[in-house]
Amino acid sequence: MTQTLTLALSKGRIFDETLPLLKAAGIEVLEDPETSRKLILPTNQPHVRVVLVRATDVPTYVQYGGADLGVTGLDTLIEHNSDWGGSAGSAGLYQPLDLQIAKCRMSVAVRADFDYVAKVKQGARLKVATKYVAIAREFFASKGVHVDLVKLYGSMELAPLTGLADAIVDLVSTGNTLKANHLVEVERIMDISSRLVVNPAALKMKQADIRRIIDAFSAALPAAKS
Ligand code: AMP
Repeated sequence: MTQTLTLALSKGRIFDETLPLLKAAGIEVLEDPETSRKLILPTNQPHVRVVLVRATDVPTYVQYGGADLGVTGLDTLIEHNSDWGGSAGSAGLYQPLDLQIAKCRMSVAVRADFDYVAKVKQGARLKVATKYVAIAREFFASKGVHVDLVKLYGSMELAPLTGLADAIVDLVSTGNTLKANHLVEVERIMDISSRLVVNPAALKMKQADIRRIIDAFSAALPAAKS
């Protein structure tokens, strides 16, 4: 009997950029998440389905077996592993591939009139607003900079403009959002891209199906093509 295979994706950039990889694996999603209200989308392969979840919930679905595999940003993965109480990989997620999609960078940004270098040199305590507290904590600790972290869930750009924080740690792609809000990028913490994550138990139980997907994705990556 063929077992159902469930793939967790979030709407938007990750969904859109995963579609060509799925196609390379012979999988086509039969409904458009932008127009359908369904949370479980069928594919052309009767035993493969896609579940639409919030980006930050993808690792949770895969870790606890609500999905067999998923696609999630490295930023989300690091924060998830930290919430779960350990270092990367401790949440028990198998991470076989960097899919090189939804690429951006995690950076520190401040108001254009804030002298970040001087403040850091003086050993001043910085107030930093971010959604990515684990990444920010680790980054500033490694630099020996003392920070007070303020957790936000959105519109981080507003924090330095309102006096809530001196700096933000956020994802930057084109830099247009920072520019529009008179903020400047002062440090690049890490490059971010999306990863394939797999539930280890599912990998054992559904080995052939999951391996086929990993191999097809892997062969379709830009590095494999060049
Ligand atoms: P940009 O104006 O192109 O630099 O994009 C910055 C905004 O888009 C910020 O609000 C980021 O949080 C968000 N963003 C950029 N790239 C990504 C990504 N790969 N995944 C999720 N959010 C992103």
